[in-house]
Amino acid sequence: MQRPATPPADYDDQRCDVIYRGSLSPDFYAWVFPHGDTLSIGTGSANKGFSLRHSVAAYRREIGFGDAVTVRREGAPIPLKPLPRWDNGRDVIVIGDAAGVVAPSSGEGIYYAMACGRMAADGVAEFLSTGQAKHLRKVRRRFLGEHGRVFWVLGIMQRFWYSSDKRRERFVSICRDRDVQQLTFDAYMHKRLVRARPMAHVRIFFKDVAHLLGLARV
Ligand SMILES: Cc1cc2nc3c(=O)[nH]c(=O)nc-3n(C[C@H](O)[C@H](O)[C@H](O)COP(=O)(O)OP(=O)(O)OC[C@H]3O[C@@H](n4cnc5c(N)ncnc54)[C@H](O)[C@@H]3O)c2cc1C
Repeated sequence: MQRPATPPADYDDQRCDVIYRGSLSPDFYAWVFPHGDTLSIGTGSANKGFSLRHSVAAYRREIGFGDAVTVRREGAPIPLKPLPRWDNGRDVIVIGDAAGVVAPSSGEGIYYAMACGRMAADGVAEFLSTGQAKHLRKVRRRFLGEHGRVFWVLGIMQRFWYSSDKRRERFVSICRDRDVQQLTFDAYMHKRLVRARPMAHVRIFFKDVAHLLGLARV
C-alpha cells in the first residue's frame, strides 16, 4: 500500500514489525515491512481454514492503515523446494523464489536467491559465449551440489518439527540450548552443515532423543 502522507504515530519506516498473535496467524506471523513510499502488511498460515484476507484487513484497521491506498494485493506460498527445472532448454532461466530456493525450517531466501542469481549469471555468460543452452541447465545442478544437502536436512526438520503445535513447542525448547544456538548460528554464517565440535553434536543428539521420547520438559 502507499505510505500515507501522515502515517500513524506508531509507524516507523526504519523498522520491520513481526507480530506473533494467534488471531493474526495461528502458526506463523503477521508483518509490516516498510519499502520507502510504500509498505506491505501481510500474514501467513498453512492452516487452510484460516482467512488471510480477513486477518490482514483487520490488522490494517487496527494499526491505523484502514484508509491507506492499496497498490497491490498478492499472495503465494513460500517456495521451500527447488523446482525440478529452472530453464526452458532454450533461452530462459529463473532464480530465487521463482526457482523455489527458500530454505525450509528457517525461511531464509535472500542469501539463496543471491547465490543462485550469481550462479545463473555465470551460466548465462557461458551460454552467451557458446550458444549452448546446456550451460543454463547446469546452474541448478551446481546450486544443488553446493546447497542441496542443507535443503534436504532442513526439509526433514520442517516436516517433522512443524507438523503440530506440540512438536513446534518442543522444537522451540530445543532451540533454547546453547549448543543448538551455536551450531545454528555457525550454519547460518557459513551456509553449510557444521561438522566442527563433534561433542556438541553428540550432546544435541541425546537431547533430541529425550525430546522425541517426551523425557525433556517443554
Ligand atoms: C514474510 C516474509 C518474511 C521473510 N523473511 C525472510 C528473512 O528473514 N530472511 C530471508 O533470507 N528471507 C526471508 N524471506 C524470503 C525472501 O524475502 C525471499 O526468498 C527473497 O526476497 C526472494 O528474492 P527474489 O529476488 O527471488 O524475489 P523478490 O524479492 O520477491 O523479488 C522479485 C521482484 O520482482 C518484481 N516483479 C514481480 N513481477 C514482476 C514483473 N512482471 N515485472 C517486473 N518486476 C516484477 C517484484 O515486485 C519484486 O520486486 C521472507 C519472505 C516473507 C514473505
